[in-house]
Amino acid sequence: ALAALEAGVHCLRLNPGNIRRPEHIKLIASEARDRGVPIRIGVNGGSLDEKLYQKYGGKVTPEAMVESAQMELAYFEEVGFNQVKISVKASNVPLMIEAYRQLSEATDHPLHLGVTEAGPPPAGLVKATAGIAALLAEGIGDTIRYSLTADPVEEAKAGRQLLEAMGLRERKGLDLIACPSCGRAEVDVIKVAGDAQDALEKLNLPIQVAVMGCVVNGPGEARDADLGIAAGRQKGHLFVKGQVVRVVPEPEMVDALVEWAHKIADEGIEGALAQADAGAAAEADADRAALLDEQGADANASEQRVDLIRKNLLG
Ligand code: SF4
Repeated sequence: ALAALEAGVHCLRLNPGNIRRPEHIKLIASEARDRGVPIRIGVNGGSLDEKLYQKYGGKVTPEAMVESAQMELAYFEEVGFNQVKISVKASNVPLMIEAYRQLSEATDHPLHLGVTEAGPPPAGLVKATAGIAALLAEGIGDTIRYSLTADPVEEAKAGRQLLEAMGLRERKGLDLIACPSCGRAEVDVIKVAGDAQDALEKLNLPIQVAVMGCVVNGPGEARDADLGIAAGRQKGHLFVKGQVVRVVPEPEMVDALVEWAHKIADEGIEGALAQADAGAAAEADADRAALLDEQGADANASEQRVDLIRKNLLG
């Protein structure tokens, strides 16, 4: 730690489980204080101080993790050092959430959130998001880190996307939403959504785009999206804020999304809506009515499925 300070680092992380002797901790804090370098007290459930581990019954508990952070903080305060942020990470999500909740009650220092050793995606992404998002939703946390077994670029992207999804950062890039597909789907939604993601992501536009499997429900279900496409009768029904603006042949769906994403970026939503094709909305209505006629109101055969489940349950 002292060598890193000497080398001119901008921030240090100290794990109370690793550097334990009070005189060493205070020496580092004094040096950091003199150089104006902040320190993160990084408590980690997996390397908790053995004495605290024993004190709390041979278990890593939220209370033990918070006490570890507070002990470190007390040494820092003894030498008048307070440029501190704190983390109490664990790989166990409920443990980490509870430790941060308790820590937020115990201190006003900024808190750095993370689920440590979350592992490779997708499970790692789910674990990290579950822990970090739960705390952010409660107003706890000042900085975040995704600890994934993956390219660090993926960690940074995940963090950015979480903050955008929670409305804590303005969207800088694409937000692609897509329906899960069902008995009404008129197109391979997974493929079209993947192609759309690849084509639109490169544009770096702060836009929400929807890919919907059918024109029966698509434009309505995704009416809040800036732009979207819904499939039906070998066509793509392109819509802006739920209003159908153009109907294109199915193979041109992704190209049409790219063209209209540019239009929205250049001319805004109103400008794009003003360029709607005259007959597009009527054509979409006709396709919707024809599909409803063909498929009926219950394209997923829900009633028969429920009957079947009841019969199986009742033997
Ligand atoms: S009803 Fe249409 S838009 Fe909704 S999930 Fe099914 S295919 Fe997708």
